[in-house]
Amino acid sequence: MVVIMCTATVPQKTKNVVIAVVKEQAPGEQRVATVPEVVEKFTKSGYEVRIEHNAGAGAFYPDDLYIAAGAKIAPGRSELLDGATIVLCVQPPTIADVEMLEENTIVVGFMNVANNLSTIARMRDRKVTVFALELVPRITRAQSMDILSSQATAGGYAAAILAAGNCPKFLPMLTTAAGTIRPATVLILGAGVAGLMAIATAKRLGAMVEAYDVRPAAGVQVRSLGAKFLELEINAEGQGGYARELTPQEKMKEQDMVSAAVARADIVITTASVPGRKAPVLIARETVATMRPGAVIIDLAAESGGNCELTQRDETVKEHGVTIMGPQNLPARVPFHASQMYAKNLQSFLSLLVDEAGVVTSEFTDEILASSLLVNAGEVHHKATLDLISGGKL
Ligand code: NAD
Repeated sequence: MVVIMCTATVPQKTKNVVIAVVKEQAPGEQRVATVPEVVEKFTKSGYEVRIEHNAGAGAFYPDDLYIAAGAKIAPGRSELLDGATIVLCVQPPTIADVEMLEENTIVVGFMNVANNLSTIARMRDRKVTVFALELVPRITRAQSMDILSSQATAGGYAAAILAAGNCPKFLPMLTTAAGTIRPATVLILGAGVAGLMAIATAKRLGAMVEAYDVRPAAGVQVRSLGAKFLELEINAEGQGGYARELTPQEKMKEQDMVSAAVARADIVITTASVPGRKAPVLIARETVATMRPGAVIIDLAAESGGNCELTQRDETVKEHGVTIMGPQNLPARVPFHASQMYAKNLQSFLSLLVDEAGVVTSEFTDEILASSLLVNAGEVHHKATLDLISGGKL
């Protein structure tokens, strides 16, 4: 990721800080950007908090709880956004929303940059300030603001539960009067944040868990959760703790080992990804044919092309008696806690943006703010996004 260090400024707000929280519009999006517990902290700090009517309903936070925490409920979008200082969202705003934002309004949330270039260009033209929280650097100081980690935790959990719900077998070992049941074998491919949570959840359900990752460092974490780590003797640790792409020879070696593990698994959960690239294909069509009937694959990398050759984004495919699911937005399936974690991430981020006196910072020189600043004062500040926008002549 190339980051332009930014010393850009926005005028200091002289009015009270007004935090506006939208009701998410994207299909299937059940999460909300803040929860009553966090609202209480904001209102105690003297901020005005506006929540769009029913914004928390999908995550089971009714309007009443926000009111009790000191928020005002806005009946619609225009009342919500009118005069807002900071707008909090889970998904990026729509173009229609952007038209309602005043100059210098600050938008904070997940911006899914590559899929929202027109909206980002419009926010640039309207001189809105935008922080994309997926760009927050993964440094120790920023851990409490790391939406990628909090939402991957929710996604990994939801993947294991989805897999168990679609598996025709029990996961735990059972010794009963009707005989002994062997535990199911669960294989996790990619042991990053989501993978580790999937491992922990499958272990708690009593399965025998194996896991594989190209980063040997992941082995320590996998073993600490009581799972078996499959070793390949490849070190593919790249920059910033992420994986690098494997060489063709390494890919063949990996394929053989992974295929054997896939064939013996009842459930496979795949989470492997390399930032900025198509997801690596770890399960070929032919490998699926070697799996047991009733086996389940949950492919968390469906959005970036899938780790299984047969995965269809947001679809369930059945081949050779194997169920292959490519669900999108798994964190939205546990919206209560995913929203709670997201809200805490945003609260932490806002503590950098607004000082104790309630003044929005006049400069974005802090490393975390500078790295996540996407748009400000009519300019795009993230090099990769700028290249995409210029390439698309937006
Ligand atoms: P991610 O979503 O980018 O990828 C998921 C996993 O897939 C990674 O563990 C990656 O190594 C693995 N992978 C990639 N190609 C693979 C392949 N061909 N076969 C098998 N596995 C493959 O990763 P993430 O969950 O966002 O985490 C990435 C790293 O960042 C991890 O090391 C994590 O511990 C670290 N991290 C650090 C912080 C921090 O604050 N310091 C916070 C969160 C995550």
